[in-house]
Amino acid sequence: MGTRLGTVSLVGAGPGDPELITWRGRRRLAAADLVLFDALIHPDLIEESPKHAERISVGTNSGCSGRPPDITGRLIEGARAGLNVVRLMAGDPFLFDRGFEEVEALQDASIPFELIPGVTSPLAATAYAGLLLTTGERSSSVAFISATQSPEKDRSFTEWQRLATATETLVVLMNTSDLAPLMQLLQHHGRPGDTPAAVVQCASTPRQHTATGTVATLADLAENSRIQLPALVIVGHPACVRERFRWYDVQPLFGKRVLVTRPSHQSAELSRALREAGAEPIECPLIAICDPVNSGPLERAVQELGTYAWAVFTSANGVHRLFGELSRVHKDARQFGNACIAAIGPKTAAALQEYSIQADVVPEEYRGEAVAAAILAQGPIAGQRVLLARAAVAREILPQTLRAAGAQVDVVAAYRTESLSTQHMYRLRNYLEEGTIDIATFTSSSTVSSMIHALGADVVSLLEPSCVAAIGPITAETARNSGIRVDVVASDYTVEGLVDALRDHYTSA
Ligand code: SAH
Repeated sequence: MGTRLGTVSLVGAGPGDPELITWRGRRRLAAADLVLFDALIHPDLIEESPKHAERISVGTNSGCSGRPPDITGRLIEGARAGLNVVRLMAGDPFLFDRGFEEVEALQDASIPFELIPGVTSPLAATAYAGLLLTTGERSSSVAFISATQSPEKDRSFTEWQRLATATETLVVLMNTSDLAPLMQLLQHHGRPGDTPAAVVQCASTPRQHTATGTVATLADLAENSRIQLPALVIVGHPACVRERFRWYDVQPLFGKRVLVTRPSHQSAELSRALREAGAEPIECPLIAICDPVNSGPLERAVQELGTYAWAVFTSANGVHRLFGELSRVHKDARQFGNACIAAIGPKTAAALQEYSIQADVVPEEYRGEAVAAAILAQGPIAGQRVLLARAAVAREILPQTLRAAGAQVDVVAAYRTESLSTQHMYRLRNYLEEGTIDIATFTSSSTVSSMIHALGADVVSLLEPSCVAAIGPITAETARNSGIRVDVVASDYTVEGLVDALRDHYTSA
């Protein structure tokens, strides 16, 4: 019996913002064995495919030079080998794109396929620039037009004659930043020079830029603001409503480039929150979470879990590491017996909840002093055993305070943070030397130490032009102690709190 044929899903990825993909498309991606994607696809989307999946970039779909890669050949080959194949294209695969040719080839080869639409750039550009596509009675018809080379070469005189005034709104997908020939052509064929017109570049990304004017003025305006590709032009009444409906590019963090130094498995959350605020996260993980040098103490603590009166966690990492050890020895949460459980903040408490543990104590302020006070407020702990599962290197105030109250505290290294490779150090230095980082974020004291380790004495001057933001006062203090100026300190010591504090900072600035 031959191999069962795989299915090829032609999926629209949307025009920039990775969150604009459809659910169906994302689910296909999450189950893919082979992904062929266009160059403009956001890297986060590629990351949605499983680790084992083969991911192949097939370049841009426009302005290709040289021989195009044999995309359809790869799709067919993959399906014949029984793979789940995803062909991911920018925007919608079937609007001015290769979707048609590729589906035709699949059909000819009798390969099962599925066509999953995407948010096409005319829809995204109008929504993200606050331009709308139709505005009730004043604009109730739309044409999408592609202009690949020069407008005169694209289509005949008579075609432009029909198109220029055919519908109230025209959306022209451009392959050039020279708008003058198109605007002249439209006027020549009867579109009044005072018709509102706008050009939107890099729609739904932090580099989005919009210029608005009229058919007569837009080319000059665009020239002055140096329109970059990809870009498209909107002609008609919707092009003049922007000042009322702008929302994306007026956000205080819009377009800011933000250095994210969290360990890579934790940066996703901060990056997502930043992207949602219109910022561009630049991920440069400075630390990695690793096994402690000696795992004996953690193993012992897990064996004796039931003998502790309190188990205290100061990070989600500590929680995951301890439960990892529990499951390694085929045990579960019941080992905690009657121990009370303390978490330093909501993220740590949420990590506990993943194992169905409700923390007994979560202090209002997410720092060691507050955890100690909250535990002591529950009653005397003299003579009781307390387990503190945390990073190998951490502040001593928490165990010290509990010991002073008579507790027997076992400080157990559940994990260790390690500075990252020289490759990352060079990347970090490059970003900062270019001077293109608007905001540098620190989400723990260890990210501060790692940056100092990576940049040495230059750290202060390299960070000088950027706004420096810390997740809380301890992290801020670590930075200040090394001479780093800290501009923003979150008052809620979480990722969301950090993004809120930055938003406030730029709103009041
Ligand atoms: N299938 C794609 C369009 C491919 S043609 C879609 O559905 O969007 C390529 C053209 O799309 C570009 O020349 C540009 O005019 C437009 N385009 C694509 N992404 C864009 C973006 N993020 N912002 C503005 N225009 C974009």
